[in-house]
Amino acid sequence: MNISLNSEAIVQAWEEGQPQHPIDRALTLLSLSRPDVARKDLAQLPIGRRDMLLMKMRERVFGRSLHLFAACPACEEELELELETSQLLEESRLDSGETEPVFRREWDEWNVEFSLPTSYDLAHALQVSGSESAAYRALVERCLRKVERNGNTIGGATISEMPQLLLKQIEAAIAEADPNAEILLNLNCPACGEIFQELFDIVNFLWDEFAAHARDLVYEVHALARYYGWSESEIFRMSPGRRQTYLGMIG
Ligand SMILES: [Zn+2]
Repeated sequence: MNISLNSEAIVQAWEEGQPQHPIDRALTLLSLSRPDVARKDLAQLPIGRRDMLLMKMRERVFGRSLHLFAACPACEEELELELETSQLLEESRLDSGETEPVFRREWDEWNVEFSLPTSYDLAHALQVSGSESAAYRALVERCLRKVERNGNTIGGATISEMPQLLLKQIEAAIAEADPNAEILLNLNCPACGEIFQELFDIVNFLWDEFAAHARDLVYEVHALARYYGWSESEIFRMSPGRRQTYLGMIG
């Protein structure tokens, strides 16, 4: 394991993130690798950009290979996957620099400008009561910057009366503009031949990995403190390699 993040910061982030919603957990994890950037600024990143940075941090801490499980929807066979982080993200699209703040698309008489959803937008959409589709509609509406029909600007009040088809087209355009916001794995069941897609939830995946790692770190402190009487901060100041050497000695 290639640990280049401070052990104490990892345990602190784990503590902080435990009661949090996944949207906030993502920002808590991201703050680990970008302590120089204010949390409110991290919350303004498009989701695909956020996930790209999370994956970069994951590579630094745990390396590039990922071990995943997925259940076949047809025969319930459990698939075990070994993937590289580079297989999950379209690096070329977002790594070349900042994303455009506003995108423009035209459909028939409609001319639409939209921005990419951020953590703020997701949190806002989740507060919208009702169905999942209502929350999704709220998210799309929140990303709209300008809507014109035959050259006439449509105000906020009538956006909710836009045709369903147009909202679907906008939704697809947003997804296309931010390809890393939703990572779908194309899978093929070796047992029954079923071809299916599985959503890769990077925040939950990473959180589970970090939580397990943080618990290991706490256990190391416990074992060394009990044996040698060192304080937590003394133990955290040691390099991971030295901690492992001591742990090996006390068996
Ligand atoms: Zn199957």
